[in-house]
Amino acid sequence: MTIMCPTPNKVSAGEVIEFLQRAFKAKIGIGKPRGGSAQLFSKLKKQIDKNGEIHLNEKAQKIIIENGIVTNIKTDKATYCAQNIIFAASLPLVLDLLGNLLLPKATLDYANNIENSSSLTIDFITDRPVTNIRSSTLGVDIPIWARFQSNTDDSFTPHGKYISTWGIMLPWYFDGDTKTVEQTEKRLKDTITTIFPDFLPMVIKERKTVVPVMNGNVLTTAQSKPHRPNIECPTIKGLYFIDDTVKGDGCSGDISFSSAMIAADKILGV
Ligand SMILES: Cc1cc2nc3c(=O)[nH]c(=O)nc-3n(C[C@H](O)[C@H](O)[C@H](O)COP(=O)(O)OP(=O)(O)OC[C@H]3O[C@@H](n4cnc5c(N)ncnc54)[C@H](O)[C@@H]3O)c2cc1C
Repeated sequence: MTIMCPTPNKVSAGEVIEFLQRAFKAKIGIGKPRGGSAQLFSKLKKQIDKNGEIHLNEKAQKIIIENGIVTNIKTDKATYCAQNIIFAASLPLVLDLLGNLLLPKATLDYANNIENSSSLTIDFITDRPVTNIRSSTLGVDIPIWARFQSNTDDSFTPHGKYISTWGIMLPWYFDGDTKTVEQTEKRLKDTITTIFPDFLPMVIKERKTVVPVMNGNVLTTAQSKPHRPNIECPTIKGLYFIDDTVKGDGCSGDISFSSAMIAADKILGV
């Protein structure tokens, strides 16, 4: 976990302090599931399948509310009755499913003005390991990161092939401009060449991905935890928000996980 922000001078000092406190308390760096995070989802699915159902490839289109209480969720394939509805995507997307008037004004304003980050990632395949580094590498002045997945988990790649993934944040207010992507790619590759001069000539295949929303909520002062919307919607009974834009703890994916755990406790009355 770390605080990702394209411009360090916009980061909330309180979030940085809380991040450091959590990191010291944890006493370990990061752990990754062997074979990638698919393992987490397959284990969760196994539990859900015992008492419930999962419907995939179905787009939620409307949350139906009667007298301030959720009653149904309509998708592009069916309508389901629901006592509780958990919206697990970036808050601005819920506006398509709900009438604007139903949300508290503060939540609506927050969702309409949210600042997210964007990034460019490149997966590089080589025939030889690039380095023996097993951990992730992070840039401070240049907002880049690298993971050498084959060094920590050889099940990631076929025998004799190595993958490393590099990412760089795109500038604030990235709007899909291809010139910006080209310049950012050059900056990333120049940085890689400075660190590992022999790396890029070794690459046999690369895959580029432009990610319009990397962190749904950059941890600026205005978007730090005290300002983020509540997990339990105060104006609609039975509606919960869990994702990286609401009042969970930590940064990025941690906010999503922690907000999900808080919502589960609230629903179960724990
Ligand atoms: C390259 C990259 C590297 C990252 N690295 C890290 C990291 O190391 N650590 C970290 O903590 N975070 C990291 N992040 C950020 C992290 O991925 C996000 O914070 C996290 O995925 C947010 O999770 P989420 O469940 O809130 O939302 P999402 O992962 O965005 O999931 C929301 C899901 O809802 C679906 N959806 C949206 N609307 C609807 C609808 N109407 N009906 C049905 N489904 C819908 C979407 O398709 C999506 O699958 C990284 C992100 C990127 C792009």
